[in-house]
Amino acid sequence: MYELNICHLYPDLLNLYGDRGNIIAIARRSQWRGIQVTISDISIGDTFDSEKYDIIFLGGGQDFEQEVIQDDVLNQKGNEIRNAIQNDKVFLAICGGYQLLGNYYKTWDGKEIEFLKALDLWTIGSKERMIGNYCFECDFLKSDNYDGRIVGFENHSGRTYLGPSVRPLGKIVKGFGNNGQDGLEGAIYKNVYCSYSHGSLLPKNPHLTDHLITLALKQKYKDFDSLKVLDDQFEELAHNTMIQRIVG
Ligand code: GLN
Repeated sequence: MYELNICHLYPDLLNLYGDRGNIIAIARRSQWRGIQVTISDISIGDTFDSEKYDIIFLGGGQDFEQEVIQDDVLNQKGNEIRNAIQNDKVFLAICGGYQLLGNYYKTWDGKEIEFLKALDLWTIGSKERMIGNYCFECDFLKSDNYDGRIVGFENHSGRTYLGPSVRPLGKIVKGFGNNGQDGLEGAIYKNVYCSYSHGSLLPKNPHLTDHLITLALKQKYKDFDSLKVLDDQFEELAHNTMIQRIVG
């Protein structure tokens, strides 16, 4: 039987707008296929051994929480996180957690917070917040029966910019995304997937959820081929209703 071990990093501090829903979606869609799932919460002061996990999740947090975890994440867990990323571990990072993997965050009032430098990207705070339901398109998800469109919810003041080694997760159809300027949303580097979309990201977008589960199983099991197809009528209904509402 296949098994997936998921690590939720800083669940008590980085968990905005139901970010844990992303973990629940990964767990449920795995369990429905007979894959066994274990979820571990790792926070400030806990030992983080990335070898134990197949998917590592970082949720969103306001500037305040990002500062609270800064010392622990840089000085206790930083090397382990960077090594895991270089060794192709699957990560999902949302909003504040996404920003944290980058080089730094300059808050809207001029404070510069040093971050992990695991991905070549950086974030500059602005006074205007980018808030709302939004839609973006992921080329890597497109197939004969899926147009690759993702629906999500964003709320951030940080504008994120990508360096040359990092690809965007998608192109904005409606909304702000990384910075409201270049039409890009999120980031991909090796097996690290980052998005500004909060907890509804995976529950409303089963194709992306399955993409991450597949990546993790392929990393772990040489014989793993593909996931069993599920009856997604309710997921598709939720997804399509939101697309209609946002894009029209
Ligand atoms: N502090 C960040 C910002 O406002 C992240 C917010 C969030 O995770 N929603 O840009």
